[in-house]
Amino acid sequence: MSELVTVEAYSTPTEAEVDRTFLEREGVRAYVADAEILAMDWLLGAAVGGVKLQVAAADVQRARELLQSLRAERQAKESKLPDIEFTCEDCNELIRFPGKRAGGVESCPKCNAYVDVPEIEASAAETPEIDKPEQ
Ligand SMILES: [Zn+2]
Repeated sequence: MSELVTVEAYSTPTEAEVDRTFLEREGVRAYVADAEILAMDWLLGAAVGGVKLQVAAADVQRARELLQSLRAERQAKESKLPDIEFTCEDCNELIRFPGKRAGGVESCPKCNAYVDVPEIEASAAETPEIDKPEQ
């Protein structure tokens, strides 16, 4: 049996399992290590470095490439929504929320006041930065 090499570490077995399934679908045999320990004792699992995703030494290169493309894909999906930047009406700080919070109510990270997050505008990328504070 060939040696297993850790290609990635996770804080939860679920994350590791998602990537393992992905690799197996792409034809790379992958194993999740330490998941049982983690399930029995979360603190112990954390102490040994969480959940590890392992593949045979011969598959390391391909597994890393596959995982990299998977991350790039996920990131592309998440970054489709631009961050929303606006000025808090209470403390006048320029604050920022992820695009998926658009139209919601959040609390200002600076002063904790409730703020209405504006909807994303199509032209947001071209808006000149008028309110940018000079430090
Ligand atoms: Zn504020």
